[in-house]
Amino acid sequence: MLTCLILLPIPVFKNSNFPAITLPSFFMASGTRSIRKRKQPEAQYHPMPMKEEEGAVLPSDCVSDIEDFSLEETLRLRPSLLRWYDENKRTLPWRDPPKSGSEEDRAYAVWVSEVMLQQTRVVAVIDYYNRWMKRWPTLRHLSDATQEEVNEMWAGLGYYRRARFLLEGAQSLVKATEFPRTASSLREVRGIGSYTAGAIASIAFNEPVPVVDGNVIRVITRLKSISSNPKESATIKAIWKLAGQAVDPSRPGDFNQAIMELGATLCSVTNPNCSTCPLSDQCQAFALSKRSSSMKVTDYPLKVAKPKQKLQFAAVCVVKILSESDLDKIPKFLLVKRPDKGLLAGLWEFPSVLMDEEEHTDEKARRKMIDIYLKTSFNLDIEMRNSFNLVSRKDVGKYVHVFSHIRLHMNVELLIISITETSFFEGCEEKHQTWKYVDEDSLQSMGLTSGIRKVYNMTQKFKEKNIQESEHFRCQMKKKIKRKV
Ligand code: SF4
Repeated sequence: MLTCLILLPIPVFKNSNFPAITLPSFFMASGTRSIRKRKQPEAQYHPMPMKEEEGAVLPSDCVSDIEDFSLEETLRLRPSLLRWYDENKRTLPWRDPPKSGSEEDRAYAVWVSEVMLQQTRVVAVIDYYNRWMKRWPTLRHLSDATQEEVNEMWAGLGYYRRARFLLEGAQSLVKATEFPRTASSLREVRGIGSYTAGAIASIAFNEPVPVVDGNVIRVITRLKSISSNPKESATIKAIWKLAGQAVDPSRPGDFNQAIMELGATLCSVTNPNCSTCPLSDQCQAFALSKRSSSMKVTDYPLKVAKPKQKLQFAAVCVVKILSESDLDKIPKFLLVKRPDKGLLAGLWEFPSVLMDEEEHTDEKARRKMIDIYLKTSFNLDIEMRNSFNLVSRKDVGKYVHVFSHIRLHMNVELLIISITETSFFEGCEEKHQTWKYVDEDSLQSMGLTSGIRKVYNMTQKFKEKNIQESEHFRCQMKKKIKRKV
């Protein structure tokens, strides 16, 4: 599972935020297809862009070396695949029909599960899905949720924009006269792209439309020995077309789940189990691999080099506040809210600033940037210590958070301050919607992104190692209180 982190500027500073954090080796002359097109009248297809929300425009021409499924092929493929699915499908919570029996409730469940499953493994999603459906069992329940509640529920799943779109989609649909029942009308809903629309329409409403995800691409490129670049829009378009030809009009939802299930289980990326595959006698990659020892089914789909990850550097300051008047009081932490728009919108994080690589290696420069940020944004003047005492300030360590396109190097410091006046916190939340002080118990239970959770855990470990320091603080404070008495 990948988590995403973005970096959005706030006034004056480069404020770091946790962005979200995704040939065959030879030309196979014998595997290259002749250009033949056959008509497939049975199922509809929607050659739409695969990626949700991108709205990519595809070229009108098709990849020339990809041949259609013949009618004979689809008539053999469908029953083989569906029989295998009926006998082997995994038991997953989103496959249970809703107790209400309502198609709209089924559509909602499919929607939630499919959005969660994007970029995330099934095992990681099950718990999230069950918790989500317990809290918001229908679209109407979800539409009453706040963004903050949804973010908390989503925390750790990554790609937080998905959660925001789910909420926005639910809120817009409860106002609509009816739930959209076709892939084309579902695509009108914010956050629902071609894949999710196909899944909902076929599974909940029995529309014979395909779905194309990474698993489907893998299965189809192997079935048809497609050697074109699977990242190119023309190839994706051709695969949507093939998936549309293959989908069984009598059981479209099951067929789509079956082909994805095959890709997720038997037809895996590195270790496909072709000997037990229900489609092996129709699989061209398998046939080629039997014909020549130099060919492997794993040569399909074509391996495409990943774009280089961008390096980013951030100074992160975990500000912990102790009370001098009550030494047993639970400490508080300063959290900052990300802007309401963009990736990781509305999520909470520790104060941080983005830096250049050279500055980042310089402790003085890091602290200076953090000091300016704390002073101007939260009125915490580290130099003057206007309303608090400085207990300690230590570098905790480095942490690299890896996202699909960014490697974020974080230098984490723990800044402990103590206060005498409880008025220090007064009115903070009313006055400032974008930052707050949270006590340690709440921090541990609230939904945090995996990057922030990691930073917090680092400071906890550091604290355990340096326990004598807080003891020193307690002794000092006790002496101070005694003197006052
Ligand atoms: S035969 Fe092998 S490569 Fe072909 S679809 Fe089945 S598992 Fe995948």
